[in-house]
Amino acid sequence: MSRRAVVVGAGLGGLATALRLAGAGWRVQIFERSSSPGGKMNRWASQGYTFDTGPTLLTLRDEFEDLFNAIGQRSDRWVQWVPVEPQGACVFPDGTAFEISGFLPNWMATLRRLDPSAPQQWWTFFRHGAVLYELARRTFLAGAIFQRPDRDTLSLLRRIPMRLAWGVYHRAVERLFDSPYLRRMFDRFPTYVGSSPYATPGMLLVIPYIEQAYGSWYTRGGLYSLVEALVALGRTMDIEMALSAPVTLIERSASGRVQGVRLADGTRWPADVVVFNGDASRTSALLGERRGPALAPPHRSLSGFVLCLGLKRALPRGAHHTVFFSDDYEREFDQLFRQRTFPEDPTVYVCRPSCSDDSVSPPQGESLFIMANAPANGDEGVWDDVRTELAMQRVLRRLEASGFPIPSEAIAVRHVWTPRDLAAALDMPGGAIYGTNSHGWRGAFLRPSLRVRRCPGLYRVGGSVHPGGGTPMVLRSARLVTEMILRDVTS
Ligand SMILES: Cc1cc2nc3c(=O)[nH]c(=O)nc-3n(C[C@H](O)[C@H](O)[C@H](O)COP(=O)(O)OP(=O)(O)OC[C@H]3O[C@@H](n4cnc5c(N)ncnc54)[C@H](O)[C@@H]3O)c2cc1C
Repeated sequence: MSRRAVVVGAGLGGLATALRLAGAGWRVQIFERSSSPGGKMNRWASQGYTFDTGPTLLTLRDEFEDLFNAIGQRSDRWVQWVPVEPQGACVFPDGTAFEISGFLPNWMATLRRLDPSAPQQWWTFFRHGAVLYELARRTFLAGAIFQRPDRDTLSLLRRIPMRLAWGVYHRAVERLFDSPYLRRMFDRFPTYVGSSPYATPGMLLVIPYIEQAYGSWYTRGGLYSLVEALVALGRTMDIEMALSAPVTLIERSASGRVQGVRLADGTRWPADVVVFNGDASRTSALLGERRGPALAPPHRSLSGFVLCLGLKRALPRGAHHTVFFSDDYEREFDQLFRQRTFPEDPTVYVCRPSCSDDSVSPPQGESLFIMANAPANGDEGVWDDVRTELAMQRVLRRLEASGFPIPSEAIAVRHVWTPRDLAAALDMPGGAIYGTNSHGWRGAFLRPSLRVRRCPGLYRVGGSVHPGGGTPMVLRSARLVTEMILRDVTS
């Protein structure tokens, strides 16, 4: 008889684990507390405008390919991949603007314009980035962080300049680049894991390396089409999924081994293995051990202030992804992490999927996804209507000052998500998108584990556990946890 797994949560990590386990012959049941699958990777649509409300930028398409391959599928039979070129654009308060191109001659020309020594400096970064990524692949991403390194790994370690990888990220960027514009551009990447460039380790330079080496991707119809594809694939593999079905307890036998789950309506569901896809900090409560907020504010990653706008008429052509930088980045991060308030002058990210895809808005219209980093204080009662309106004014003011005004009469539909909304919709502490932040070595590399040791048979997957947040890392965690489960049941 095949083994039974219950996956608690239909986020990206939950869906990917369910598919991998079903591919290995398991009977899989998913319980999802929301009315739609996808978790943070979700969609909002109104009057012909469609928005991804979570991820808008995909890097490391390889991790998606790996998932499809693992279950004997080709991804391009299920989704239509669109390479995003230019990969993005940066706009600075003094009016300086440039596009980040994956086409090297264009990118070299841009770098030269910014600073004659920038091409050489960029190659130095890229060379180190390649070594860092290879090192991460062999250790951290292979789930072998505590294993004795082999000779090749040791030789990679020796090739990384100490001061670059082991110091603070922002300092490493300062050592690499002279141009203030490139420093700012590179300083933004730790926010991909909800963290500050002034507190994360230099090893995180692997993030810009991956984006620049492997490109940025979009899928036609929006990135939510990936979730739809995984759900459809699940159906073909007899995975059962119950929506609006919150799990309230993970049940254990007298010996402490996982036995199954209990749902809010009292139903009990037996299982050999339970995989929890929610925030890692909720594990204890689900085990009935303790209640209350488990992830203390100083350890939380960033949340977001998100604005989806459907415009009646398209704005002048631009890049798919644009970042409008604030005047004082250090102050912005001080406000986000130390003062824990929404920045007075936020850096604003604008995604314009209509630039690559005419299916996401009505003809002549445009769908805009606008996001600014926000502190994960969604559970602290601060996001009332007044604060929300104030944050929106600050975001729109930054865009207007940067030459990207949004005429209010052009807005046909509008939806706002504050950290409070994110916290409530997805049950993440304060709206922290990536669980714990990646500050310091511990935060970045010793993330909550995939295996819950005190409860044999219970595992975790997703952005709040090893190896970390963002879609490629979440898919990697699904692969690692599946391999672990299959190893555990045969050992
Ligand atoms: C606004 C925003 C923008 C982002 N932008 C990007 C981006 O551009 N690129 C990128 O790569 N990543 C981005 N991310 C991050 C990315 O979305 C996440 O890292 C990833 O989707 C998380 O997947 P996960 O497997 O951790 O599951 P989650 O998305 O966290 O889903 C977990 C699921 O478990 C369910 N659940 C929890 N507890 C229970 C329970 N007790 N019973 C039943 N169900 C339960 C939840 O309802 C949820 O559906 C963004 C996220 C947000 C919110």
